[in-house]
Amino acid sequence: MTKLPNQAQVVVIGGGIIGASIAYHLGKLGVTDTLLLERDRYTCGTTWHAAGLVGQLRATENLTRLCRYSLELYADLEAETGQATGFRQPGAISLATSQERFLELRRTAAVAKHLGVEAEVLSSQEAHALWPRMEIDDVVGAVHLPKDGMVSPVDVTMALLAGARQSGVTTLQNVPVEGLIVEGGRAVGVTTAQGQVRAETVVLAAGMWSRDFAGRYGVSIPLHAAEHYYAITQPLEGLTEETPILRDPDHSAYFKEDARRLLVGIFEPVCRPWGMGGVPDVSFAEIPANLDHVMPLLERAYTRMPFLHDVEIRQLFCGPESFTPDDNFILGEAPTLPGLFMAAGFNSIGIQAGGGVGKALAEWIVEGEATMDLAEVDIRRFEPFHAGGRFLADRTVETLGLLYGMHWPFRQFETARGTKRSPFHQRLLEKRACYGETAGWERPNFYAPEGVSAEYEYSYGRQNFFPWVGEEHRATREGVGLYDQTSYAKFLLQGPGAQAVLQRVSANDLASPTGKVVYTQWLNPSGGIEADLTITRIEDESFLVVTTAATRFRDFHFLKAAIGDDQAYLTDITSGLATLGIMGPRSRELMAELTSADLSNEAFPFATSQEIELGYAQVRAMRITYVGELGWEIYIPTEFSLHVFDEIMRAGQALDLRPCGFHAMASCRLEKGYRHWGHDIGPEDSPLEAGLGFAVALAKDADFVGRRALEAQKSKGLERRMVQFQLEEPELMLYHDEPIYRNGVRMGLTTSGGWGYSVGKAIAMGYAHGEAGSLNAGWVRDGEWEIELAGKRYAASASLRPAYDPASERVRA
Ligand SMILES: Cc1cc2nc3c(=O)[nH]c(=O)nc-3n(C[C@H](O)[C@H](O)[C@H](O)COP(=O)(O)OP(=O)(O)OC[C@H]3O[C@@H](n4cnc5c(N)ncnc54)[C@H](O)[C@@H]3O)c2cc1C
Repeated sequence: MTKLPNQAQVVVIGGGIIGASIAYHLGKLGVTDTLLLERDRYTCGTTWHAAGLVGQLRATENLTRLCRYSLELYADLEAETGQATGFRQPGAISLATSQERFLELRRTAAVAKHLGVEAEVLSSQEAHALWPRMEIDDVVGAVHLPKDGMVSPVDVTMALLAGARQSGVTTLQNVPVEGLIVEGGRAVGVTTAQGQVRAETVVLAAGMWSRDFAGRYGVSIPLHAAEHYYAITQPLEGLTEETPILRDPDHSAYFKEDARRLLVGIFEPVCRPWGMGGVPDVSFAEIPANLDHVMPLLERAYTRMPFLHDVEIRQLFCGPESFTPDDNFILGEAPTLPGLFMAAGFNSIGIQAGGGVGKALAEWIVEGEATMDLAEVDIRRFEPFHAGGRFLADRTVETLGLLYGMHWPFRQFETARGTKRSPFHQRLLEKRACYGETAGWERPNFYAPEGVSAEYEYSYGRQNFFPWVGEEHRATREGVGLYDQTSYAKFLLQGPGAQAVLQRVSANDLASPTGKVVYTQWLNPSGGIEADLTITRIEDESFLVVTTAATRFRDFHFLKAAIGDDQAYLTDITSGLATLGIMGPRSRELMAELTSADLSNEAFPFATSQEIELGYAQVRAMRITYVGELGWEIYIPTEFSLHVFDEIMRAGQALDLRPCGFHAMASCRLEKGYRHWGHDIGPEDSPLEAGLGFAVALAKDADFVGRRALEAQKSKGLERRMVQFQLEEPELMLYHDEPIYRNGVRMGLTTSGGWGYSVGKAIAMGYAHGEAGSLNAGWVRDGEWEIELAGKRYAASASLRPAYDPASERVRA
């Protein structure tokens, strides 16, 4: 038996597919001093009972890249390691029983092709020819992915472990990790009954146990186990290894051949969370099936295969799988405990994602930063409240089923709502706000007119709120609108070293005068955008940092980690300040009713901030905008917030002040070409590519992270550049991820899209690529541009300049 070493470069906790894949890839990268420890036997957690589907497509480009890599890896793993994996590629069919679902599938197929995933749209008859025993009366159409595959999850995990060992990695089973060694605020090893192992890096890949384990060290990992079902029939005539996987999302079911039997898997629309009192110390766990819950769902699945009524079910299986609050998995280094990486919460795609995740995390550990944009799965997208037991149990009910639900544009979670509310919540509810949720915040997305219920009616076309948002947009452009922006995150960085810290992390110049609002990005060493925010010097040694609700935790810890030895102190003051946006050409008039402060351009220019009196309150007013109009963001100490709100509403009556929601804001910012972090910009996009060169102070008297990468990019010339589009076709809607073409050549995907009410067209932005240095206005003008929607291309006009007020005259009015 291999003796437990007392030291390793990396210790991986967990011998499921994820831990195995991380260890395999660390070995490939030369980190052979890696030790994997499994509590019981390899695969005994969730991996052993997975159905083994390896689909290639995910909601976004990078997650698809990870899954495609898994497929390629698994295809060759047996030849490489000598260990069978059960890999085969029968392809997969997804069925649509409504026109909306068919549209969704065709949109996905268009993206698939862009990502190099073979995909063909099928008629119901064509689908039937591939799966002759299914009923197709209700089928509208289908999409076929001929290269989708499947594996034996146990075998593929064993092969990854074998591959890891062949590289020199040590893997041990029956060694439970009891705890972490934490020194100086860093994870520096693990403890076991057989002794301690010190390590530079610890990776937690302990599946559904990860949350409880990490919670002991103040690290929040929001995942919750839920029951997950499939049934396996007796052997059936006609099933072969070539029988395609069949997904029937409208019946919450999938079908796959399994040793000549049929495995019928269920994705329940309302699922049953499991292990609420803590995940027990079980191995190869099987949960007793709840027949009242699962039988009606199986019945539903049988409507696709009525012959199954006469077929014996040999096994009805229920096992636990981990789900997260947003259905995306969790990767990265714990912001509150450096040295501890994690990979958990796989929402039923751990096998399909496992190969790519292992590679991505191993590279992240070795390189010291993610080698691709993984923001959507980064642990830092969550806040500690997300890992609360009750929040998770309530949310999990919904997340499992969503995997097969309709992915409507703007779809809002229905569970675990009402977590964070601004002081204006009730007031705005009375104005018929329809609330959406971001990072736990309830935020007005739109306002319904009198007599109409403030609820979404989802569709891929114009949704019910389309005309109402148009009115809010017009109020912002022509009069004055009120936005509740309380959800914005606010931090205070104070101390004699504050400026030095900000100069080091910011691409823009923060050696700024008091009252100056500086728009800046924080970059990684490769020049990619890690954060996009405004920073205002409010006193000599005090800066107010404002960022989005969704990046509060991420940006806070990014800045905290950057402080280093400088004398500076960072405080999150989000809860202390409510925020209202007063936006539009008549905002000055409105503000003037409430304050004696001089609001003229000379006294209060754009991108400056002052403390002013407003009603009985002292507030901080910032002349800044995300809608592209004259306007102020008002930061109000929370206890004064309702007073200020009431004063604004009173004074606003004469000016037709209109409460406006985040959909109107999105429409306005798109027209104005304002980028949105997470959509248009992220860790793989440089500010120069994104058209944000105006916010990069290469001439500033301080070095900053990413500077060298930007200088190199500048001297070589850009090979990639953000372009803004307007669709010529008047009726169509754009959302994001629609393929872009220039002169028939596929360029990329739109990063965000929407309706521009002022320009009267669907608008979008996205990156185009070409020869270094050639991507100038002429190149854009001379191209014939098209955007593809559900398989059909439509002409678009393109520009490097925004569709609305390109010279920003209105903002500076
Ligand atoms: C019914 C069902 C069907 C599924 N079908 C599919 C599918 O078709 N395709 C797909 O992609 N995914 C599928 N999944 C999901 C997939 O099984 C999981 O996402 C995946 O197995 C998760 O792997 P993991 O390594 O994160 O977790 P696990 O497999 O649970 O591995 C974690 C390991 O950590 C060990 N561990 C825990 N604590 C410690 C400790 N303190 N010390 C040492 N070791 C520890 C555990 O013993 C366990 O072995 C399915 C899941 C279910 C339930």
